[in-house]
Amino acid sequence: MFHVKQSFDIVVIGGGHAGCEAAHAAARMGVSVALVTMRESDLGAMSCNPAIGGLGKGHLVREIDALDGIMGRLADRAGIQFRLLNRRKGPAVQGPRAQIDRDLYRAAMQAEIAGTAGIETVYGEVTDLRETGNGGSEIVLADGGILSTTKVILTTGTFLGGVIHIGDEQRRGGRMGAQASDMLAERVRGLDIRFGRLKTGTPPRLKRSSIAWDELEMQPGDDAPTLFSFLSTGVTAPQVCCAITHTNATTHEIIRANLDRSAMYGGHIGGVGPRYCPSIEDKVVRFAEKSSHQIFLEPEGVESDLVYPNGISTSLPVDVQLDYVRSIRGLEATEIVQPGYAIEYDYVDPRELRRTLELRARPGLFLAGQINGTTGYEEAAAQGLVAGLSAAAQARGVDAPSFDRTQSYIGVMVDDLVTRGVTEPYRMFTSRAEFRLKLRADNADERLTGMGIALGCVSDTRRLAFETKMQRLAVARDMARRTKIPAVALRRHGATLPDTAPDRALYDAMAMPGLDVPTLLAATELAGVEHDDMLQIAREALYANYILRADREIAALKKDDAVEIPGDIDWSTVEALSNEIRAKLNGTRPETLGQAGRLEGMTPAAMVVVLATVRAHARQSA
Ligand code: FAD
Repeated sequence: MFHVKQSFDIVVIGGGHAGCEAAHAAARMGVSVALVTMRESDLGAMSCNPAIGGLGKGHLVREIDALDGIMGRLADRAGIQFRLLNRRKGPAVQGPRAQIDRDLYRAAMQAEIAGTAGIETVYGEVTDLRETGNGGSEIVLADGGILSTTKVILTTGTFLGGVIHIGDEQRRGGRMGAQASDMLAERVRGLDIRFGRLKTGTPPRLKRSSIAWDELEMQPGDDAPTLFSFLSTGVTAPQVCCAITHTNATTHEIIRANLDRSAMYGGHIGGVGPRYCPSIEDKVVRFAEKSSHQIFLEPEGVESDLVYPNGISTSLPVDVQLDYVRSIRGLEATEIVQPGYAIEYDYVDPRELRRTLELRARPGLFLAGQINGTTGYEEAAAQGLVAGLSAAAQARGVDAPSFDRTQSYIGVMVDDLVTRGVTEPYRMFTSRAEFRLKLRADNADERLTGMGIALGCVSDTRRLAFETKMQRLAVARDMARRTKIPAVALRRHGATLPDTAPDRALYDAMAMPGLDVPTLLAATELAGVEHDDMLQIAREALYANYILRADREIAALKKDDAVEIPGDIDWSTVEALSNEIRAKLNGTRPETLGQAGRLEGMTPAAMVVVLATVRAHARQSA
């Protein structure tokens, strides 16, 4: 006999990266949230690599933080090695990344969720999700408990219909050591939506004390760590070194000789895997001309005796894994503590979603994370934030936030997912953002915190810190515009200029090629301005001309994005469009003219017809 346990504004199913961020975001908006997940240890669990951030991914973490999300702050607390990737390239493509102590991260997440007013955690398996009429839903747990709500956020990761593969062995599971979510998978498959199968893999975990560290090249973190959160002031966990080793001809020989025993190559897995995160079998086959691949040996924690060998994810049988691992320098006597494996799981075609990540076919049901065809903690957390804020805004009867691709990587990801769908697990790269010189990790707060304050999801502490920083930056910007630097000084710091050239404003000079900005700033009298603030103005100044141009293009794009397309147009009846475009429009249901224009295969001629159809529809409805 079922009984109604409790009623919440929002129920989040799944306590992974998407679920925790969704629940926290919704609670910050002042609504009541139940976060239901299988067990307490799910909160903050990292299924794969012990790292957060990187190129594109680090940008997402900064954006989550700018909206007062949790991933950045907790990663700073649990970070045991910080590196800014692409340090030698321009600031726009630099990505903060940190090795994470798994246990510290999990503990920090559990404490954060437990300490957040408005979130109630419920541990158990959700087995059913049913509509009760009038927009209501009931979430049924395996123990018979029922939660009632009007907004559900489903964030079940790799658990729906999850199957783990090691060689020709297969077993049901959501990840190693956790049961799959089969009953809920049946329910989701019963919705009238498109879905498919994807796969991903993870490497074997090695015993730290069995590695010959002395023989390996060590890789320390940066001397001055770049943190994720705009609120963090320093590193708190002890810092560690990683090490680098390489596969070799013998490793590749062992893998080649056993390809038919790999789950990926033995034909046991139907799902599509991540092209950008290939297994070692994939690398040996696809890059046959390479005789070696780099492996980073990443400790899983300060105290942990586990090491994550980044670069050799696999679905080969355990005996072959041990053979090839032991062929690698420094790993000759290594013990495998947990074998590598591949996992295949259900995902929902994200073209079924609105930009709020709400399912079009089922209003009130939002989807976030790996279930939408993405891969990665950061991508999952960012979607959790979008779904959490959107569902909470709906519950409160206010406008949902709008993330567009001109303003954030979050907007780029959401637009890519809902407009183009996925053919392989989607991960973020800086190359996906056409306005990436504007969307930098360093200015995520300048781009998004104001929006968060207006929405009501930002704490007073962050608001005050942000407002104070913006005032300081305004002073620094003004000083940079007023301070004149003589050509001779600019030459001394690397600029190519005749000595007779006129003085330049510091702001304009900071974009000059060859100029060593930090040494120029150190030698310039800038009383009352903090060094870090002027460095931030220097990053802005570097791209100032580009940003002026980009802003004009963005204004044009925004015009198209402001034209809404009603959801009830039946594109199959619009004869002036090709069959292919009609099917794309009906399948994706773009919400704006801008989104329609970004559909694959859309032509200028077809856009004229789309606009005419929208106008005719508006006249008929008037
Ligand atoms: P998860 O973190 O998986 O969280 C889902 C949560 O939902 C779990 O806590 C689960 O217990 C809960 N749940 C599921 N069903 C139910 C239910 N019915 N009732 C209650 N709770 C439920 N990412 C990369 O970037 N690179 C990689 O190389 C990579 N490799 C991976 C390899 C493997 C084997 C796995 C499993 C994952 C890998 N990932 C990788 C992906 C990364 O772990 C995920 O992208 C990320 O964890 C997704 O976050 P999520 O919140 O969507 O789901």
